[in-house]
Amino acid sequence: MKLSQVLSLLSLTSISLAQTNFTGDVISGYPVITSLDLSDVPSNTVSRYWIVAAVQQGSIPIYLPILVARGSNSSLTSGRKLSLSASIHGDELNGIPVVQRVFRQLNTTISSGDFNGTVIGIPTMNPNGNQHNQRNYWTSTGNGFYTNLNRIFPGQSIADGGSITDNYASTIWNSVWGNLSNVDVAVDLHTLSTGSIGPLWAYADYRLPYVQRLAELAQPDIIKIDPGEPGSVETTFVDNDVPAITLEIGPAKNWNATLIDRAEAFVYRLMEDLQMMTSPSSGSSNGTGVVQIDLSNTYRATNFSSVTATRTGWVQPSVGVLEDVTEGQEVGTVYNSWGDVVETLTAPVTGRVLQVRYDPAIEMGAQVLDIAYNATESG
Ligand SMILES: [Zn+2]
Repeated sequence: MKLSQVLSLLSLTSISLAQTNFTGDVISGYPVITSLDLSDVPSNTVSRYWIVAAVQQGSIPIYLPILVARGSNSSLTSGRKLSLSASIHGDELNGIPVVQRVFRQLNTTISSGDFNGTVIGIPTMNPNGNQHNQRNYWTSTGNGFYTNLNRIFPGQSIADGGSITDNYASTIWNSVWGNLSNVDVAVDLHTLSTGSIGPLWAYADYRLPYVQRLAELAQPDIIKIDPGEPGSVETTFVDNDVPAITLEIGPAKNWNATLIDRAEAFVYRLMEDLQMMTSPSSGSSNGTGVVQIDLSNTYRATNFSSVTATRTGWVQPSVGVLEDVTEGQEVGTVYNSWGDVVETLTAPVTGRVLQVRYDPAIEMGAQVLDIAYNATESG
């Protein structure tokens, strides 16, 4: 849209349109915005927007799809605001259908008119990574390099001297999440990196109230209790006193139906726990108003210990995901091209297997599996 059109649009409409900056562009039927003001988003419905997070070489904008489920009129002040984001790492795809399914359900829930809250969804945070079949964001500056977007939040705008990727993070942080004003609780959905299989697990920094509850509502196979990674979505929220977890949903590049179902069910428990659902659909509170959590299969860990191969060759792990292992136990074998055993891998700690590499081609120094353990407990 031309500037003159934007100006005339702004002058003709009420103040309610003044802050959610519509550029005037409409793509696939959905408006492009430059920032999200929740008070401008219609209540009792799910709205779809695009926002431009960066412009790539060749003048190719990266449009991020933004879903906003707004509840009742009063819910913006009476209800909680939840952020669901997925696939900031471009090869981590299981979170995408989780966000999509939740919003499909919200379409029905919200039309009842008594949804007490707001949910902001970004199903694909890194289309550039999706396009490159890659975890990271590729930029063409210099001879081209990759940036891990989940280490640079809250980012920095171009005007403040940031790079294209800093600006990308800053656009999400400030223009979608409103520099905290649009988010009370956040869940960032990930998977393992390409090449490994694993369960449903959460990273959680218990130092901030509600984070433990948030992680436990996920009923994951493993909760990794730790102070987080600086610059990650989770840790940046937590550092700003917004409860957040990173939820890891199995393997990369492979939609795992069971784990996707479990992650989706978690979001409904969470919305119920946040009292967004005035008539709960999940029924997990059994009418008591308190969401029941089953942690009987959840292992709590404070540390991961990696088993790495010291020889290049072909690796055959001998333990599976979520298997309990004891220190010194054999966990895998590395063969050379003759078929001779060149290395026997053993568990460095007693704990539970978190992730196992499925790619047999191994190079010296590469990780074969991770074992989760609790360093604060003996035995
Ligand atoms: Zn990730």
